[in-house]
Amino acid sequence: MLRKILKQIKLTFSNYPKRHFYYLTVGILFIVFLSLFSNQELDSTVSKEDLLTEISIDKLLPKDENFIERNFTQVKQSEIKRNDSLFSILKRLGVEEENIVSLVNSNNSNLLAQIKIGKKLEVEINELNEVVSLNYIKDFKSGVRAKKQVDGYKIEEYELQTEKFKVFKKITITNSLYIDGLKRGLPDSVIMDLVYIFGWDIDFVHDIRPGDSYSLIYEEVFVNGEKKLNGDILIAEFINQQTEYVAIRYKLKNGISEYFSPEGRNVKKTFLRSPVKFSYISSKYNLNRRHPILHQIRAHTGVDYVASKGTPVRATGDGTVVYADKKGGYGNLIEIKHTEDYSTRYAHLDRFHPKTKIGKKIKQSDTIGFVGKTGTATGDHLHYEFRVNGKHANPLTVRLPNARPINASDKKSYDLHAKKILSDLKNYQHLSFNI
Ligand SMILES: [Zn+2]
Repeated sequence: MLRKILKQIKLTFSNYPKRHFYYLTVGILFIVFLSLFSNQELDSTVSKEDLLTEISIDKLLPKDENFIERNFTQVKQSEIKRNDSLFSILKRLGVEEENIVSLVNSNNSNLLAQIKIGKKLEVEINELNEVVSLNYIKDFKSGVRAKKQVDGYKIEEYELQTEKFKVFKKITITNSLYIDGLKRGLPDSVIMDLVYIFGWDIDFVHDIRPGDSYSLIYEEVFVNGEKKLNGDILIAEFINQQTEYVAIRYKLKNGISEYFSPEGRNVKKTFLRSPVKFSYISSKYNLNRRHPILHQIRAHTGVDYVASKGTPVRATGDGTVVYADKKGGYGNLIEIKHTEDYSTRYAHLDRFHPKTKIGKKIKQSDTIGFVGKTGTATGDHLHYEFRVNGKHANPLTVRLPNARPINASDKKSYDLHAKKILSDLKNYQHLSFNI
């Protein structure tokens, strides 16, 4: 049977011309080649798998004798509380007393003696309840470190390197200073600084209009490539109803940083624009107003700020209390004399602050009383008057005197700084305009 088949095959082949036989051979070789090739593929896959099995997790780990110990350590954090000492905190974290003594007796342990309330202590503890390492975090860039040695601890202060980057933003207000700022990625703290800097000139509750804009350069502080802090505003420009305000930060020779106009005027005023935060004005200064209760033309010689009963009222400037008592339609009234020329009055108060007594010196922003409706008043509000040389002035429009300008010894270097940073701001504005 087999013989018959073989004979048949031989016959078939011999019947084919030589050329066919040649094709067949090439074909067979090709198939053999293909199968070899795919085998190789398969082989390489196998070897990859082998490789993966070889690089097992334990082979990636260092063959360090300390490793086992480290494997069982745990990091614990504790906030330093009132009456805490290094000893009491470590004891709380479960550290062996003997080990605490060894830490306290190590060189430089005095660096850990003045730990402050509210700061954090990070402690790495091993399975024997010993401190392996310790980090007293003073702030995002500095602190004190302790590391276990064969004998005692190595304790040292450290200071991480910081990098500062300048950020420029230009924002046009369509909604509010705050919302538009946040939308453009301006950090909350920077917006607050901006409000503080320009708050002396601009009433952010009442004066802002759509189309007002501001641009600024501020710093971001990084440690190891990680943003740690939104730093200070270096320069800011605010355009409020076509009026331009510029404030430049400058570190004075006495080490204090303040904001000045490009000409060196202090952005701070000797008076706050408004004695009540978060209020709205119900009645402006108007010399021809019909009085809401008396129904006759009676000049309104102040500004009415509507706020709920009990809202704190701030002194708008430094001065001395010259009146704090009832006074007819004013109800409970406070008068503060600031200079020979300036005085302010606060009326309809619900009550006085206990410290508000005649002859008492008052600082700007001190709470002197609380909003109410004593005297002739339809509802809770503060009636605020500003007097210059004994005459009424409109508190909303009166030109408020500036705080001390830049001093003579700082002026020259300030001028150079102001010129440079102002041109930086203009360049950024120009670039952002062209994008
Ligand atoms: Zn009034």
